[in-house]
Amino acid sequence: MTAQVLPPAQGRFHEDLGIWIRIAPRAGAATCAALFLDRDGVIVEDTGYLSDPSDVALIPGAAEIILAANQAGVPVVVITNQAGIARGYFGWEQALTVQEALDRKLAASGAFLDGFLACPYHREGLPPWYHPEHPARKPRPGMLFAAAQLMHLSLRDSWIVGDKLDDLLAGYNAGLRGALHVLTGHGLAERPSVVAWNPPRFEIRLGNTIAEAAELLNHQNRVHPNHIRNQP
Ligand SMILES: [Mg+2]
Repeated sequence: MTAQVLPPAQGRFHEDLGIWIRIAPRAGAATCAALFLDRDGVIVEDTGYLSDPSDVALIPGAAEIILAANQAGVPVVVITNQAGIARGYFGWEQALTVQEALDRKLAASGAFLDGFLACPYHREGLPPWYHPEHPARKPRPGMLFAAAQLMHLSLRDSWIVGDKLDDLLAGYNAGLRGALHVLTGHGLAERPSVVAWNPPRFEIRLGNTIAEAAELLNHQNRVHPNHIRNQP
């Protein structure tokens, strides 16, 4: 695999994890809950293998909810499957120009992402990005585990917002508290599968857009009832 020569601010590809990881510095090392967000179809319009920065269009309410999380001290972590890389549609530099465009649009509202993690692998991918079932590719939980370890996050208190069942499954497989399913992106087509899925110990909220994640932030600002029950 070739080393990526890009500005450090863009993060880097972690060979052992198989994930592009960019993490913003955070004051303190206390473990806290995070808001995990799928990107395409949740934060930005899903144009299908988004690779042109001029196609980056924020979904209404996305910047506001990310800003609200920033202000509440809840780390916002994007976890995104980028099979377009495996399929040879675009490379990392192009993928990162899209990410930069998103960062600029968020910055215009004063919002920022604490973490950006991307998995390039796909079972129909080209070398070196072929993998039959990479542990970091959603619905598998590798990106969430990596973020939790590197960012000191409490997975069981965290939520994920996704438009696909695979986003929710990744959250479930990582032991998150729950998920908000939205109707943007592939959400409408995926909603029946989400409704039919009835996992134990995982809260599913059915919403319309990421704007409804405001309710999740309210939950995260309070002490989780389980914490009280678990006190000796
Ligand atoms: Mg999506």
